[in-house]
Amino acid sequence: MNSTIVRRKHATPPVPASPFPYNPGSLLSVMDLSLEGVSRLLARATELDQMDPLVRNRILAKRKVALLFYESSTRTRTSFELAAKALGADTALISSLSSSIEKGETLKDTGLTLRSLGAEAIILRHNASGAAWLLERETRLPVLNAGDGMHEHPTQGLLDLRTILAHLRPGIATVDAETLKGVTVAIVGDILHSRVARSNLLLLPRLGAQVVLCGPKELLPDLAAEAGPGVTVERDFETALGQSQVAMMLRIQAERLAGMQIDLGGYTASYQLTSARLAKFAPKAVVLHPGPIIRGLELTAEVADGPQSAILEQVKNGVAIRMAVVERALTAAEQGGRA
Ligand code: ASP
Repeated sequence: MNSTIVRRKHATPPVPASPFPYNPGSLLSVMDLSLEGVSRLLARATELDQMDPLVRNRILAKRKVALLFYESSTRTRTSFELAAKALGADTALISSLSSSIEKGETLKDTGLTLRSLGAEAIILRHNASGAAWLLERETRLPVLNAGDGMHEHPTQGLLDLRTILAHLRPGIATVDAETLKGVTVAIVGDILHSRVARSNLLLLPRLGAQVVLCGPKELLPDLAAEAGPGVTVERDFETALGQSQVAMMLRIQAERLAGMQIDLGGYTASYQLTSARLAKFAPKAVVLHPGPIIRGLELTAEVADGPQSAILEQVKNGVAIRMAVVERALTAAEQGGRA
């Protein structure tokens, strides 16, 4: 008897469309934004920045925004707060050290409590990667990710982009897949623990930039070479600098090292941005740093304060970008949820 073995082919189940973000006003990842969405935010940031403050503060008058911070922050927290207030919104700051979080309240319960108190959007910084997703899922409010663990920091990515464009593509109003063609951005230091690196390497190549990741193996595993299109790894700092128009220096994230020992002497010898290195290998490069800077470690004071440094411009751009992002959070649903 002829027996034929019929192998039943299992149809590959369709990949379910990501339910995130649930709320069209949320910004959990730079990947939530199309390039048109990025262009809209950049253009709106400029409009809001240049607007008469008395007109601007009617845009979100009396709307309620909560800032929920489980990690310390200077730039991100202050600029989000100033941004929301500049649009007329009322803000409430909840930080883990002075709230019921200290008593053991979960993120979910804190989020639901804030929603009951009338919060219409929550800006969240949390030490756990994915926390912003969870908060959005539980509250369905617009959630703005102000840094979640080692995962992402989307508004930092956007403000870095605004800074890069101002220096290398002045006057550009909209971005597309070619806008940063020919631009190489070196991201240097503790890539492993950096949410800033993650947001930048997901965003910049979509605009045509090359991203070169640079750092020692402990802080930049070999696997990073597979981070995605437009991203490469170069261990030698001077080679990376030599090919870059932007040098984004990162702090070693001491709070996330979890027992890892770093030889700081060896690290600074190989990876510190000094005036001599800058002059020799990248005399025209724009120097960026998300802050806080540790003078004498990842860069010298001379470089931080020097003419190539755009670090304080980044801080200023943070307010403009966050005004646009907070406005989007509270108006996206009314405008049909455009990304
Ligand atoms: N401020 C940035 C962040 O929150 C970078 C840093 O802390 O080193 O991720």
